[in-house]
Amino acid sequence: MANYERTLSLINKDIEYFSKINKKDIKLVIVTKAQKVDSINNIIDLGYSTFGENYVQEAIEKIKTINKNNICWHYIGKIQSNKIRQIVQYFDWIQTISSLKHVKIINDICANLNKIMNVCIQVNIDNEESKSGLSINELEKFIEDIKNYGNIKVRGLMSIPSKTNALKGNENSYKILKLMYDNLCEKYNFDTLSLGMSNDYKLAMNNGSNLIRIGTLIFGKREYEK
Ligand SMILES: *Cc1c(COP(=O)(O)O)cnc(C)c1O
Repeated sequence: MANYERTLSLINKDIEYFSKINKKDIKLVIVTKAQKVDSINNIIDLGYSTFGENYVQEAIEKIKTINKNNICWHYIGKIQSNKIRQIVQYFDWIQTISSLKHVKIINDICANLNKIMNVCIQVNIDNEESKSGLSINELEKFIEDIKNYGNIKVRGLMSIPSKTNALKGNENSYKILKLMYDNLCEKYNFDTLSLGMSNDYKLAMNNGSNLIRIGTLIFGKREYEK
């Protein structure tokens, strides 16, 4: 518990520092995948209420057990069509949008539930085979295609840069993403650039990220594997 507090206060200092420099508020999403409910509850007791999860089944069990309605849950995992109904029911944000087919299903279910879903479009900035997401030059058409779905609110972009770039501090693709984000921001009224995890969150904030997603730095190793 004390450990969480110490790490979180260090992260908050970094957030404060970059918020001042960037003149923008920066949000922290605490990634709780593979962490136990007790650990998450400890963090909730410290006053945090925004969490990210990757696996639908695992997430729903935890969300039901925690059973608090002032918590904001971000879905940050891969989307499968047959899981979308559950994602929509239990989550407030979906950060990993890159398929028009998924957008249509999400919109229909949201319309049924009378819900507006906050979404980020996932960008594969380093063009990695292993990662989902659109390439930079597919973005604008995709945004045009989805802008008229009434139950979807596009908040901005999300990306997971390559591990090598993150670890080596190679900021090139971060900068390209930021440029693109700034362009789209004006045109589409975006407010979210979701970029940065445990190993690159400072690099990300240094390149305009205003939402960082951090798991292992706070919790230590994941408590169980999928
Ligand atoms: C797991 C995950 C995180 C958190 O990663 P850590 O390295 O544990 O901080 C952030 N974003 C996404 C999309 C993830 O899958």
